[in-house]
Amino acid sequence: MSKLPAMSAVPFSQPLVAGTELTKIGEAIAAGHLASGGRFTDLCENWLAARTGARRALLSHSGTGALEAAAMLAGLTPGDEAIMPSFGYPTMASAVVRQGATPVFVDVEAATLNIDPGAAQAAVGPKTKAVFAVHYGAVACAIDELVEIVRAHDLSLVEDAAHGLLADYDGRPLGSFGDLSALSFHQTKNVTCGEGGALLVNDPALVERAEVIWDKGTDRARFLRGEVDRYRWIDVGSSFGASEVSAAFLYAQLEIAERMTELRRGLWRRYHEGFAQLEADGLARRPAAPSGHAHNGHLYYLILPSPLARDAFVADLHAAGIETASHYQPLHDSPAGSRFGRTVGRLVHTEQISRTLVRLPLFADLGAGSVDRVIEASYYAASRAVEASA
Ligand SMILES: *Cc1c(COP(=O)(O)O)cnc(C)c1O
Repeated sequence: MSKLPAMSAVPFSQPLVAGTELTKIGEAIAAGHLASGGRFTDLCENWLAARTGARRALLSHSGTGALEAAAMLAGLTPGDEAIMPSFGYPTMASAVVRQGATPVFVDVEAATLNIDPGAAQAAVGPKTKAVFAVHYGAVACAIDELVEIVRAHDLSLVEDAAHGLLADYDGRPLGSFGDLSALSFHQTKNVTCGEGGALLVNDPALVERAEVIWDKGTDRARFLRGEVDRYRWIDVGSSFGASEVSAAFLYAQLEIAERMTELRRGLWRRYHEGFAQLEADGLARRPAAPSGHAHNGHLYYLILPSPLARDAFVADLHAAGIETASHYQPLHDSPAGSRFGRTVGRLVHTEQISRTLVRLPLFADLGAGSVDRVIEASYYAASRAVEASA
């Protein structure tokens, strides 16, 4: 009896490769400028500012670096509080703690998995200085409500738009709503240089200080523009810039970013249409696809009816050679979160979602055939999982 041919595994994620990265790195080497602030840094920053409308885009070594700079620029000091969703990435909270301030964790909305504006409003107190919001999967959070809250209480709004490049809300780019926004170019993101990120400075009043913080706390940017005759240490700073090697790599990817985003959106839609019946059958919930929001196909997930069903579903997919991932371990009851942070309200959705969400493979080169294979395996796995855990 012949055995069925072993099918190749479907990886969860593979970094994008444009193909022109080495040529551009070669150009950077030939130009003799490898530190930050070279031609490719300028090209990337101008590209990002043009696409988002930011007053200034600053390329960083990481999205985490951009979040840390944002926490500095938001003026967080010891005793201050910053409200954020517990369903988020650790360095968003860590950036606040590094300033001596306290992250205040609130719940997310069940539909979008983004910060619940009602919960954020309820957490505002005399120490509140900022609200940090994530656009999970590049689906916009409740921007209008959040902007109203930060205006009413004179708070800073920081967007963790790490997922959000080339996604928009009502025709306005993600990253353009906050005083400050962080992007990431980590290898798991749509566009990458391995490790990288950017800070979008939308508040014109913060641009000059952002440049100082970026460049070791010095006024070197003004010196380079000929505005001062030598540069000096003038503020607390760090070295947040990205190397020109990274910038050259990234620029190669930015050149094809729009096309790659379309490709990812196509794969996302294929999943979404393919899972319509799964949702109708009550076996899993699909992501909300709010009208008027254009996401960028950053990630696709399913939410299983129970933690038990999720774990069985994942085990079946893994047995079929399909890699998956989960998201996020809640920040509020993580070891550092409970040490450094505070929680307001009951975080019902955060806790439920972190135990029932499964992320499926999605990357530019995944291919429609692999998506179909994942869909087929998921129907089988979800039926078995839900039956077994009923
Ligand atoms: C990736 C990511 C970060 C961190 O970005 P790095 O570039 O890896 O430092 C922060 N927040 C979110 C939501 C992310 O997905």
